[in-house]
Amino acid sequence: MSRGPLKIGGVSVRPGQSKDVKLEISETYTGDKTRIPLQVVRANKDGPRVFVTAAIHGDEINGTGIIHDFLFEQSLKLTAGAVIFAPVVNVFGFESHERYLPDRRDLNRSFPGSPTGSLASRIANKLMTEIVDNCDYGIDLHTAAFQRTNYPNVRADLSNPQAKRIALAFGCALVVDGKGPLGSFRREATKRGCPTIILEAGEPWKMEPSVQTIGLNGIRNVLTELDMIEGLKTKPPFQASIRKTQWLRAKVGGILKFHVSPGDFVAQGQPVATNYTILGKEQNSIASPSPGIVLGMTTMPAVKPGEPICHIATLTKTQLARYKRLLERAASEDPHQIAQRDLATNIDVSAI
Ligand SMILES: [Zn+2]
Repeated sequence: MSRGPLKIGGVSVRPGQSKDVKLEISETYTGDKTRIPLQVVRANKDGPRVFVTAAIHGDEINGTGIIHDFLFEQSLKLTAGAVIFAPVVNVFGFESHERYLPDRRDLNRSFPGSPTGSLASRIANKLMTEIVDNCDYGIDLHTAAFQRTNYPNVRADLSNPQAKRIALAFGCALVVDGKGPLGSFRREATKRGCPTIILEAGEPWKMEPSVQTIGLNGIRNVLTELDMIEGLKTKPPFQASIRKTQWLRAKVGGILKFHVSPGDFVAQGQPVATNYTILGKEQNSIASPSPGIVLGMTTMPAVKPGEPICHIATLTKTQLARYKRLLERAASEDPHQIAQRDLATNIDVSAI
């Protein structure tokens, strides 16, 4: 647990203080400083220090909305520790509605970075030294990539007990196990001794109400778990640790009709989409190779061979039956049920 002074971007935040900090991460072509906005909230009492970051991919703004709502509520009464909120990490991408940095590099594949490396590498290094090195835990908020949507799920290295603790506490129904891609923020932060989880939820370019609710609850749940705020944790209708996921891809070019939506349970062999020619002739049916849950899917019905259609989180037959029963018992206003309904509103889901 971190003790002693808390200093970010040259600004000291003392016990009981809440400060807005502009952290310099780069410069523009005209030589002006590029800064990212942070809010640092510190309780009087020492305790864990947690960062919450969003828009490391500049077009994934659901997390920005989650942090914005969290700060807007003004109800964060920290009883111990400190939280560093960074609603927009990749300000370059955020300004141009793009995932990447101006040098076309993916910031989330550039960690831990170096002070003498590329543009992306220098920004990554700055985030590691100023944010990660000041924290004991991290929550990094993401959405699916362009033209895809994700049913809200947490991803973490479940072999790390502290990462597992906050991953389960966050309260998503699905927790996907894994260290994360090479060079990703969560992988390198966890390796550096700051166990970090990510939320993958919804689409880019949107602030989706159902995703915001799950994100807000999740941050509160983690802070409650770490005894940093008072309150009760919310629990999902069921919680599955996922060890295997699989993308189903188009075999031929055509137009898809979907038969499932994000969060749906699927049986082995169940069709998830049918591929038609542009003139309406059926070409093939795409079926789930195993029992599972729809973790993510494309929102673009026009596909070429090899393009992703549906991301399935694999379950056993027994798990599938058990989770289905638990979900049926859950209240219809449960945030997971609402997310399942809302995420599919712009996808045409039809019977087989
Ligand atoms: Zn992302």
